[in-house]
Amino acid sequence: MKQYDYIIVGAGSAGCVLARRLTDSGQHSVLLIEAGGSDASPRIGVPVGYALTFRDPRFNWMYQAEADPGFAGRTAHWPRGKVLGGSSAINAMVFARGQPGDYDDWCAAGNGGWGWQDVLPYFKRLEDHALGASEFHGSGGPVHVHAPSSEVHPLCSAFIAACAEAGIPRTDDFNGAQPEGAGLWQVNIRKGVRESSARAYLRPVRARSQLSVLLRAHVLKVNFSGTRATGVQYRHGGELHQASARREVILAAGAIGSPQLLELSGVGDPQRLTDLGIPVVAAASAVGEGLQDHVCVSYFYRSKVPTLNEELGPLSGKIKAALRYALRRDGPLAMSVNQAGAFVRSRAGLARPNLHIYFNPASYSTDTGESHRLMSPDPFPGFLMSFNTCRPTSRGSVHIRSADAFAQPAIQPNSIATPEDIADVYEGARTLRRIAAASALAQVIAAERLPGPAVTSDEQVLEDFRARGGSVYHASCTCAMGPDPRTHVVDARLRVHGVTGLRVVDASVFPNVTSANTNAPVMMVAEKASDLILEDARAAG
Ligand SMILES: Cc1cc2nc3c(=O)[nH]c(=O)nc-3n(C[C@H](O)[C@H](O)[C@H](O)COP(=O)(O)OP(=O)(O)OC[C@H]3O[C@@H](n4cnc5c(N)ncnc54)[C@H](O)[C@@H]3O)c2cc1C
Repeated sequence: MKQYDYIIVGAGSAGCVLARRLTDSGQHSVLLIEAGGSDASPRIGVPVGYALTFRDPRFNWMYQAEADPGFAGRTAHWPRGKVLGGSSAINAMVFARGQPGDYDDWCAAGNGGWGWQDVLPYFKRLEDHALGASEFHGSGGPVHVHAPSSEVHPLCSAFIAACAEAGIPRTDDFNGAQPEGAGLWQVNIRKGVRESSARAYLRPVRARSQLSVLLRAHVLKVNFSGTRATGVQYRHGGELHQASARREVILAAGAIGSPQLLELSGVGDPQRLTDLGIPVVAAASAVGEGLQDHVCVSYFYRSKVPTLNEELGPLSGKIKAALRYALRRDGPLAMSVNQAGAFVRSRAGLARPNLHIYFNPASYSTDTGESHRLMSPDPFPGFLMSFNTCRPTSRGSVHIRSADAFAQPAIQPNSIATPEDIADVYEGARTLRRIAAASALAQVIAAERLPGPAVTSDEQVLEDFRARGGSVYHASCTCAMGPDPRTHVVDARLRVHGVTGLRVVDASVFPNVTSANTNAPVMMVAEKASDLILEDARAAG
């Protein structure tokens, strides 16, 4: 059996960071195991390819959530990256750290070392930021953060001006001194190419002799000797293999994959495991509980002026955009469709923004099928705005339903289940309409197509949200960090409670979902985790 110092399961946003950092010193051998395959596809490299990988099983786990009462009993498609780079290879590339208060909340919940001032150095360490090094930003790190300006669609300026009229000030940097306000999204795109975690962290170090990267290898379980994790069992090339870890096994399989693997390995609720015939290694009832996500709804507008629809829709527009991309690596194919947005306090008395708003200068009808919807926008000028609450209080769960490692786990989103989340739906709709009514946008809007002017009361707005809303794909918190083994899965050093030699490092360890998009926070968590792991290795000798 092959032996390594560390075995990392999952080459996603977190796993690639860990593989790089744990091999930086040259002292440790690392096996990085990924169920998906290579990321060498234009669907991943070209930013607009996001629209195509959204439902492409070659790169996507294609999970199907359970029927969600919060969404009128609908079952939703839950995309997750199954490829080198994980979800960072198929996401919408918005780079947003969230709010400083998110991390102070983590710290206040008993996770010393995770407050804003503790994590800021790690955000800076990962960045090669377009705005250069400063109190808030890093330069020369692995991840290029692009700060778009003139290349965004002109309608973004109308949105930002309308926000100003509605009392929402402009910010030039959501990740800097002023995270609140309206502005343009920074993105993980380098010279027109998606900057996934794999491209940023792994590609430059793939040739390191201490680093072994195994693709298309599905980990079935963690092996234990008593309560000590000793390695993993995986299927590769149709055969069963084992690998052993001298120091640690690190799960970086994401908010669905990590709780799934813990339960398959005997770490979970004893009754659940026993019912499925899985021998219990450690009782850990919090595994898979606490699932959080951002959920949003889009408001669609018919526009009086041209939008991206005219550039992405007709064949002539597609050819022009493709030629532009081929020649100059810019234009609509080189950008995220999420171009502008805002973080807003919807009512007086709030200490921090509670709403996250997106402005996309394109519109795609929801009945064209989600797989290619961005490539088939409405055949007339249109745009959309959407909103979600920054800090949902609803929580769902992820649990295995059988001992078969290839069976999809049951995802219960439990969306919009609390009065606080419902109140933010009401206020989100009012805020969007206030922005739309401001003259800078009102003068370009021909009509609100969806939900439409007939939907006005809070009850109607909520009914519409439940009928049309959906996930923003920020699943997290299913192996939450915290001091109490009864309610948390990992401690503040990300070690799994109740066992040794096993950590979890990915979106699942968030105690609460951050207030914005989750990719940058996951990479930050992995940067910090690598320091914790190396510190512990030095202490152990
Ligand atoms: C469609 C979509 C759009 C998004 N848009 C944005 C955005 O614009 N901005 C943003 O900040 N965030 C966005 N996100 C969220 C963000 O990308 C994720 O939060 C982040 O990538 C999660 O990182 P992770 O390391 O926790 O998991 P992942 O990156 O998902 O990595 C987990 C890895 O583990 C592998 N794995 C799982 N199980 C096993 C197993 N048993 N054996 C071997 N390997 C396994 C998976 O294949 C995967 O590669 C989006 C997500 C999606 C899906």
